[in-house]
Amino acid sequence: MCDEFDKLMLAYQQAVIKHTETLVLLEGFRTKLSKQDYDRLEQVVEQNRLALEEARRNLEEHAASHGCLPSTEPSDAATT
Ligand SMILES: [Zn+2]
Repeated sequence: MCDEFDKLMLAYQQAVIKHTETLVLLEGFRTKLSKQDYDRLEQVVEQNRLALEEARRNLEEHAASHGCLPSTEPSDAATT
C-alpha cells in the first residue's frame, strides 16, 4: 500500500460516512419536513452519493493502475 492509496481510502471512508449521515437524516425527517425541504435534503443525499462513487472510482483506478491493492487474503481481520 502507498501513501496515495491511504489518502484515497481516507477520502472514500469520509465520503461513506457523510453519505450515511445525510441518508439517516433524510430517513429521520421524512415525515417532519415540508416537501420543499425534503427535496432539498434529498438533493444533498444524491450529491453525497455521487461524491462517494467518485471517491470509490478514484480508489479503484489508482489501485488498478498502481498495483497497490491492499492485501486480499481471507479477510478475517477485516470483517466487522
Ligand atoms: Zn498506489
